[in-house]
Amino acid sequence: MTIPLVNLKRQHQSLGAEIRNAIESVIDRGDFILGRETAAFEEEFAAYCGAKHCIGVGNGLDALTLALKALGIGPGDEVITVANTFVATAVAIQHTGATPVLVDHDPDNYNLDPKLLPIALSPRTRAIVPVHLYGRCADMDSINEFARSHNLYVIEDACQAHGATYKGRRAGSLGHAAAFSFYPGKNLGGLGDGGAVVTSDLAVANHLRSVRNYGSTVKNHHAVRGYNSRLDSIQAAVLRIKLRHLEAWNSRRCQLAKLYRNELCDAQLTLPSDDGHEDHVYHLFVVRVANRDAVLARLKGQGIECGIHYPTPVHQQPALGEDFRLPHCPVYTESFCHEILSLPICPFTEESEVQAVARELISALDASDVRAAEPMLY
Ligand SMILES: *Cc1c(COP(=O)(O)O)cnc(C)c1O
Repeated sequence: MTIPLVNLKRQHQSLGAEIRNAIESVIDRGDFILGRETAAFEEEFAAYCGAKHCIGVGNGLDALTLALKALGIGPGDEVITVANTFVATAVAIQHTGATPVLVDHDPDNYNLDPKLLPIALSPRTRAIVPVHLYGRCADMDSINEFARSHNLYVIEDACQAHGATYKGRRAGSLGHAAAFSFYPGKNLGGLGDGGAVVTSDLAVANHLRSVRNYGSTVKNHHAVRGYNSRLDSIQAAVLRIKLRHLEAWNSRRCQLAKLYRNELCDAQLTLPSDDGHEDHVYHLFVVRVANRDAVLARLKGQGIECGIHYPTPVHQQPALGEDFRLPHCPVYTESFCHEILSLPICPFTEESEVQAVARELISALDASDVRAAEPMLY
């Protein structure tokens, strides 16, 4: 038995012929870069998110970097984000020349704790990048209210939250701009790299359409010093097909999350908090356990592939260097990183697989070598 964290093979088996036909039509047409499929996907994804514009780019990191730059963020500026995130969030801020200011997350929902914004604020603060981590939207009302009162931009890192909603509105429509990644394992993923910025600001959208394509919207005229970061037509064609399944896939993820909750309700671990709303799209189902590494190893021995998102807080990554500010010690980030465990979940995970993972996890927690360590205290 092997249970992968994400089963892309089954996803592509289920869509096989449709995807191959779409790719073949791009090959027949030959409009590989910024072709008809890219324009159609951009329109459909903007509409899906409830925003006016979508600009396809090369990947999620570029989406974050270019969105920040489009809003004028650069050297001398500070951007507040959360320490428990993928390294891309912080590195994108650094790529603009600005300084990331990293705060802790709310221990209940793993997202940026808005109560910490005042201590992170400085005269240089220009923007906040909330991350909708694991597929759950950050506390956007509090973040937007703080941003409004201090004249800051809000750029959503929605790379794990395709289709997640906050008070009835979708991720991607909750700030000035939002960055998405279409890395294959995301809730909406292509057959390679891809990304997009979603915004309702026409000036930002126009700027990005030019900047992603060598600063050019008219052939051979380069208005600004641009980049080459484009969502190619084959990826867009595949994403258009998958977008039509995203709602059903996200509901399936919610169903499986519910099953995990039922199976694990008596286990010695911390489940993701559940406020009863179906706004979470469970990109990841993350639990916390004592003696995590022993549990992880034992599950691996049983053919169950789990993940850790993320084992090293970004401020401890060598990539960040000295170019960040830590206004306080992010205690939850630094302690939870030793306990978090991402269990297999994707729309193609079977109920029987969830039950098997839960069973093996419970027996791993009961094993004496695993129980030996005292639970962490905060
Ligand atoms: C995946 C991810 C990114 C980066 O996306 P890429 O397409 O891999 O560059 C950024 N932020 C978060 C939170 C992510 O999960």
